[in-house]
Amino acid sequence: MPILTKLHTIARTPLAHTPTPIEPLSNLGKHLGSGRIYVKRDDCTGLAVGGNKARQLEYYFGEALEQSADTVLITGAVQSNFVRMAAAGAAKLGLTCHIQLEERVTDAGAEYRESGNVLLNRILGAVMHTYPKGEDEAGADANLRLIAEQLGEAGKKPYIIPLAPGHPPLGALGYVRAAGEILDQLADTHYPIDEIVVASGSGNTHAGLLFGLRALDSDIAVTGVCVRRNRKAQLARITTRCQEIAALLETESPVQRQDIQLTDDTFAPGYGHLNDATHEAISLCARLEGLLLDPVYTGKSMAACLKLARNTGKNKSILFIHTGGIPGIFAYRDSLI
Ligand SMILES: *Cc1c(COP(=O)(O)O)cnc(C)c1O
Repeated sequence: MPILTKLHTIARTPLAHTPTPIEPLSNLGKHLGSGRIYVKRDDCTGLAVGGNKARQLEYYFGEALEQSADTVLITGAVQSNFVRMAAAGAAKLGLTCHIQLEERVTDAGAEYRESGNVLLNRILGAVMHTYPKGEDEAGADANLRLIAEQLGEAGKKPYIIPLAPGHPPLGALGYVRAAGEILDQLADTHYPIDEIVVASGSGNTHAGLLFGLRALDSDIAVTGVCVRRNRKAQLARITTRCQEIAALLETESPVQRQDIQLTDDTFAPGYGHLNDATHEAISLCARLEGLLLDPVYTGKSMAACLKLARNTGKNKSILFIHTGGIPGIFAYRDSLI
C-alpha cells in the first residue's frame, strides 16, 4: 500500500494499549429498534484514564524524543483531555510537562476549574499555567512559545506539542494507524459495519481515520460529529487536515470531497455545554450498557449516533468510536445530575 509507506518511517513512541476492543451494544440497538451498534473502546487506551489522545501522543512524543527534548509544553481548554494525557505521557517518559489552560467555558463552577482533568494534571505533577482568553488559538500559542523560550534560556530542551492549525497534524497519524487496526478487527469478527461515527474536534481523529480507511481501500462511511465549531467551519478544517496528512506522508490524499460527512445536529448550545439529546445519550448508554460517556465529546457524538440509528432503521450497522473523556464527568457534575 504505497499511500502509507511513509507512515512506518515516522518516529512513534508506544503509549496506548492497543488494539482496543470492539464490542456490540446489543441492548441499545434493541431499545432503539435500530440496526446493530458497536463501540470501539478507545476510552480504554490506558495512559491515565484513556482516550483518543493516547494514539495521537505516540507521534508527538516520538518527535519530542527524536529531538532529545526534556520538557514538553501543551495548551488546551481547562478540562482538556489532551493536556491530561500529555502530562501522563511525559511522566511515563521521564519528561517535565508544562500545561497552559485556556478559559474557554465561561460561567464555569468550582468543579470545572478544579476537578476532573485539572485534578489529574496536578496528581501527574504537571507545571500549570493559565491563559485568560479561551477563543484565541494564536494568542495561546504565542504565549506558550514565550514560556518555551524562557525554558530554553534556562537550559532546558523544550518541545511544544503543536495543536493549532498550520502545524503538521502528527497526531492524526495515530488514527491513520487505527484505521488499519479497525479493518483487521472487522475482518476477524465479521461485524458488518456500514458507517463509523466519531467526534470531530481538532479533526485529527476524524481526518486520520477517514484518510487511513480510504488509503486501505475501505469505503466505510465516516460521520464526524461537530463538538467544537459548526459544520461549515469543521468541513473546511477536515478538508485541510486531509491535505496536511497527505503532505506529511508525501502522497496524494485518497479522501474525496464527498467522503467528508459532518453533522452539527447535536452541537448547540456550543463547546462544553450540554443539551437534551446529550443527556439522553449519556443516560441510555449508562443504564442499558454500563458504558460511560463524557459531557463534552462522546455524549454529543453518541447523541448524533442515536439519531442516525433511529433514522436509518434496521438496515445499517454503526461503529461508534468512544474517544474517552471520562474525567470530564466529574468536572461537569452539576450539569449531569
Ligand atoms: C480531543 C477529544 C476528541 C476530539 O478529537 P480530535 O482529534 O481533536 O478531533 C473527542 N473526544 C474526546 C474525549 C477528546 O478528548
